[in-house]
Amino acid sequence: MSQSQETLSNLLQETRRFPPPAELAESANVTAEAYEEAAADRLGFWARQAERLTWAKHWDTVLDWSNPPFAKWFVGGELNVAYNCVDRHVEAGLGARVAYHWEGEPGDTRTITYAELQREVSKAANALLELGVRKGDRVAIYLPMIPELPISMLACARIGATHSVVFGGFSADALRTRIDDAQAKVVITADGGYRRGKPSALKPTVDEAVKDTPSIEHVVVVRRTGEQVAENPRDVWWHDLVERQPDEHTPEPVDSEHPLYILYTSGTTGKPKGILHTSGGYLTQVAYTHHAVFDLKPKTDVYWCTADIGWVTGHSYIVYGPLANGATSVIYEGTPDTPHKGRWWEVIQKYKVTIFYTAPTAIRTCMKWGDEIPAEFDLSSLRVLGSVGEPINPEAYVWYRENIGGGRCPVVDTWWQTETGAIMVSPLPGVTEGKPGAAMRPLPGVEADVVDDQAQSVPNGGGGFLVVREPWPSMLRTIWGDDERYVKTYWSRFDGLYFAGDGAKKDDDGDIWLLGRVDDVMLVSGHNISTTEVESALVSHPKVAEAAVVGSTDPVTGQAIVAFVIPRGNAGAEVEGEDFVAELRGHVAKTLGPIAKPRQIMIVPELPKTRSGKIMRRLLRDVAENRSLGDVTTLTDSSVMDLISQKLPSAK
Ligand code: ATP
Ligand code: MG
Repeated sequence: MSQSQETLSNLLQETRRFPPPAELAESANVTAEAYEEAAADRLGFWARQAERLTWAKHWDTVLDWSNPPFAKWFVGGELNVAYNCVDRHVEAGLGARVAYHWEGEPGDTRTITYAELQREVSKAANALLELGVRKGDRVAIYLPMIPELPISMLACARIGATHSVVFGGFSADALRTRIDDAQAKVVITADGGYRRGKPSALKPTVDEAVKDTPSIEHVVVVRRTGEQVAENPRDVWWHDLVERQPDEHTPEPVDSEHPLYILYTSGTTGKPKGILHTSGGYLTQVAYTHHAVFDLKPKTDVYWCTADIGWVTGHSYIVYGPLANGATSVIYEGTPDTPHKGRWWEVIQKYKVTIFYTAPTAIRTCMKWGDEIPAEFDLSSLRVLGSVGEPINPEAYVWYRENIGGGRCPVVDTWWQTETGAIMVSPLPGVTEGKPGAAMRPLPGVEADVVDDQAQSVPNGGGGFLVVREPWPSMLRTIWGDDERYVKTYWSRFDGLYFAGDGAKKDDDGDIWLLGRVDDVMLVSGHNISTTEVESALVSHPKVAEAAVVGSTDPVTGQAIVAFVIPRGNAGAEVEGEDFVAELRGHVAKTLGPIAKPRQIMIVPELPKTRSGKIMRRLLRDVAENRSLGDVTTLTDSSVMDLISQKLPSAK
C-alpha cells in the first residue's frame, strides 16, 4: 500500500435522496434524539442500553480503558447470554412466540417457539456437560444452516463454553487450523446439508480434519441428509446423545468479559484471525443495534437475515441480536436459486417477512437474473431492507429499493466487521434521509471518523481512512492467543485509533461513504481512486449487473484501471463486441471523469468471490498483471478463474 494516501479522490456524485416513510418515522424505535443523548454522555448511553439485558449481578463500572487497547465493559457484571436470548422471554410469558421459522432447502420446515428453544438448548447443554465440556472450554461447530446450529451455540453459551463456528463451506485444512488454534475439545457437525438441490456432505471433511487434532475428544454428528457416513471411535450421534437428556438446565451466570466466541475472519485479505468476542458488551450492542437499525417490533415483525450463521452477520443478526430482542426470525438452509430463482421471494411471501437483510453480492445477482423474477411474488409485507458485506453500488441500492422494497421501504446500508461485532455506521430507518451508496453516520454511541494519513479528521468532501476513536461495547477484545497481532493489526497505524482497513470519504453533508479496502485503492496518475466508485459507475450502466475493478501496473500512469464486467441477463448479444467496451469506457469517463476511464474492460461470466460472497480483487490483479494466481483457498469456485483467464486478450 502506498504511503501517499492522504486523500481519496471524491469522484462519484449521487444526488438521489429517500426520506424515511412518514409512518415509520412516527413510530420509530429510535429518533434523532439518540444521537444527542449519546453525544452528551456516551458511557451513560451504553449503560442504559445494557439495561435491555437481564444481569445476574449488576456491573460496577461501565468501561475500564486503563490498559488500552484492551477494553473491559460492564466490569463486575455477571449474566448468561443464553438465558438472555431464551429463558427470560419464556419467563415473561412469551414461550409460545416463534423464535425461528426454519425452512430447509428441499421444502421441509420446522417452527421453533421460545419454549421449545429453551428445551432444545437445555438438552444440548446437558449433552455437552456429559461429554465433559466445562466453562472456558472451546467447542468447534461445523454445521449447515439447520436449527442445531443456533441450538449448539446457545448450549455453549449456557454452560460458559466458548464456541468457534466454522463456515460449512470450508475445507478440512481450514477446519483443522481453526480447531488447533482454539484447541477445541469437541466438534459438532452433521452428515451434511442441502445445497443446490442435493445433499452436500460435511462429515468426510471433519473426519479428514480431526485425524491430526489431538485436542478433539468427541465428534457429535447431527443426522440431516441420512447419507452414509464413516463411524469413528470418537463419534457420537446427536440424536443418541442429546435426545435422551433432561430438557431442564439452569444457566450459569458468567463474568461480563467471559469469552462468548471466537470467529475467524473470512480471509478476504490473508491468514485468518481468531476474533474474540465476550459476553455483556457484545450482547448489549447487538441487541441495541438490531432494535435501532431494523426498527424491530418483536410482536409483529418477521425478520430474515440471509447470511450464513458461519459469518459474523449470522452470529450477531440471526442468533444473538434477534433472540436477545425476542424476535421472530426466518432461517433458510439453502441457495437462492433452488429449486428456482425466486426462492427467496417465495420465502418472504410465505412467512410475510417484514424486515429483510442481505448482501450487495446477492442483490447484484438478482439484478442479473432479471426484474421479472421478484415481480412474480407478493413482497408487500416488507417494511425495512438492509445491506451488509461490501459497499452497495448506488444502482444496486435503487434496484433493491424499487424491485424488492416496492419503492416504500428504507434501505439501511450497515458498515461493520467481524472485529466490531455489531453495526457501527448505518442510517436509522425512521430518522435518516437515505442516500444510495452511503452508510451515512456512526450510530449513537459510536465514534467513527474518516482521517487522513496524519490521523487528522478530513473535512467534508475529503477522503481517507475509516477509524474509530473510542472503544465500543461489542469490540473485539483481542486476536485469540495473539495480543501482539491484535495491537499491531488494529491499533498501530494511527496512535490511539482503531484502524478498520477500509477507505472512506465524507460528502458535503459530512455523511460517510465506504470506498473499499485500503489495499484495493488504485493510484492513477497521482490520484487515489477507489475501486468502489469505478465499479459503481460501471454498474450504473443499464446493461451491467456486476463489476470488479483493479489497478494494474502501467508505464505511463503508475497504475491503470482494469475492469471485469458481468452483463445483465437481458442485455443481448452486443455485449460481446468492441463497441460495448467502448461504450462502457465512455460511460465511466462521463460519470466520474476521464481520470477514471478503464484502460481495459473484460466481459466475463463470473467474478472470483470469497465464500462469504465478496469480490476477491487480489486474484483479478494477478490476472491483470499476468502473474500466476496467489492463494485461492478461500475462493468459492476456483473454476471461475479459468473462465476469466480464457477471456484475456493476449495484447494490452
Ligand atoms: P478478512 O478480514 O479476513 O480479510 P473480511 O474483511 O471480508 O475478511 P468481514 O469481517 O466479514 O471479513 O467483513 C468486514 C469488511 O466488509 C469491512 O472491513 C468492509 O471492507 C466490508 N464491509 C462490510 N459492510 C460494509 C458496508 N456496508 N459497506 C462497505 N463495506 C462493507
Ligand atoms: Mg476484514
